[in-house]
Amino acid sequence: MLVKDNLSVIKQEIASASEKANRNPEEVTIIAVTKYVTIERAQEALDAGIVHLGENREEGLLAKYEVLQDKPVWHFIGSLQTRKVKGIIDYVDYIHSLDRLSLAKEIHKRANRTIKCFVQVNVSKEESKHGIEPEEVIAFVNQLSEYPNVQVVGLMTMAPFTEDKVFLRQCFQKLKSMQEDVKGLQLAYAPCTELSMGMSNDYSIAIEEGATMIRIGTALVGSEK
Ligand SMILES: *Cc1c(COP(=O)(O)O)cnc(C)c1O
Repeated sequence: MLVKDNLSVIKQEIASASEKANRNPEEVTIIAVTKYVTIERAQEALDAGIVHLGENREEGLLAKYEVLQDKPVWHFIGSLQTRKVKGIIDYVDYIHSLDRLSLAKEIHKRANRTIKCFVQVNVSKEESKHGIEPEEVIAFVNQLSEYPNVQVVGLMTMAPFTEDKVFLRQCFQKLKSMQEDVKGLQLAYAPCTELSMGMSNDYSIAIEEGATMIRIGTALVGSEK
C-alpha cells in the first residue's frame, strides 16, 4: 500500500472520530512511526505530506536523520536508557518517554536548548509497561522544576494490547484527566497542552478522548522493511 492511500484512510478516521467528539480534526497531529521501515518509506511519508516522524532507537533515528536531516520534526517515542540521551539529544524535537528523574537530569545536562517532553504514564498499570504510576505524576512534574531544559508539553501513554474498547477508552480518559491536573498546576515549564495517545489499533478512541498526537506505524507506513 502507498503511504498516501493509507494516509487518506487515516485522515477520514480522524475526521469522523473528531466529529463524534465535537473536536476540530486539525488539533490532531499524526506522527508516522518509521521504526520498522526503510529510509525510502519514511521519505515516501514525507512526500505524502507527513511532517512528524517517530523512532524508538538511537540507531534507527541516526540512520534516518543522516539522510532526512531536519526536514521532518523528530520524535523519540521508545523507552530511553539514560546512557543513550547523549547520542540522540541533538536530533530530536520531542521525547515521549520521560519516566524518571534520572532521565530528566540527563536530558537537562546534555541538551543545549529546551526539549519538548511527554511524561509517560503507566495508566493501565501493566507490569511490562514503562511509565510513571498515575498517583505519582503530580509529584514527578513538580520535581522537574530543577531541570529547566525539560519542558513538559504533555502526557503520553501506551494502551495495552486488547480488543476491550471500554478498557482502552478508560485508559485514555484517565490520561486526559491527569493532563488537566498537570495543566492546573500552572507551571511555566509544564504547559501540558498535548496528549500523546493512540496507535494503529486504537487511535480513533484516543482521538474521541482528546489525543492531540497519535503515533501510527503499521497502519500508515507498514511494519515490514
Ligand atoms: C511502535 C510504536 C508505535 C506505533 O505502533 P503501531 O501499532 O505500529 O502503530 C507507537 N508508539 C510507540 C511508543 C511505539 O513503540
